[in-house]
Amino acid sequence: MAGFEPHEPVLSIGLAAERSGVAVPTLRLYEAEGLIIPYKTETNRRLFSSEDLERIECLRKLIHEEGLNFAGIRWLLSALPCWELGGCPDCDVKPKLECATFSSTGEPCWVVMRRLGKKSDEDCRNCPVYRSAHKRIRRLRRVVVELSISETPSSS
Ligand code: SF4
Repeated sequence: MAGFEPHEPVLSIGLAAERSGVAVPTLRLYEAEGLIIPYKTETNRRLFSSEDLERIECLRKLIHEEGLNFAGIRWLLSALPCWELGGCPDCDVKPKLECATFSSTGEPCWVVMRRLGKKSDEDCRNCPVYRSAHKRIRRLRRVVVELSISETPSSS
C-alpha cells in the first residue's frame, strides 16, 4: 500500500477482506484459531497492514491449494524453533527446555505465551518470529513433503 509501512495497520477488516478475497467471518476464524494477530485499537477495532495481507494470502494458499486444515497449519507454526530464531526475551533468560513453547506441539508460540499471560498481542504482533512465520512455514511445508516423498519405499 503506497505511502504506508508494510507493518502499519491501516485497513479495516472489511477492506482487508476485500483486498485479500477472504471473507470477514473467515478472517475472524483465522484469528480465533491463532493464525493471525490483527492490530486492535483501544475500542477493539481490528486493523490490518499489507504484511497482514501477505500472511492471509499465504494461509489461503496453504488451505485452498495445498489442502491443509487449521490444525495442520498450527502444527507447522508450532514446529518453528522460536528459541533459535530470537525475538522472545523469555528465551534469553530461560533454558529452552523450561520454556512452555519448547514442549508444546500443535500451537504456535504466540498462542501458548499469550494464554500464559507472558506475552501480549502487541508483543507477538511486533515480534520478528511472528512476522516472518508465514514465509517460513511455506518452506517448512515443502521440506516436509520432500522428506516424505524421499522416504517412501518404492513399490518395485
Ligand atoms: S511471537 Fe511472541 S511468544 Fe513467539 S517468540 Fe515472539 S514474542 Fe515470543
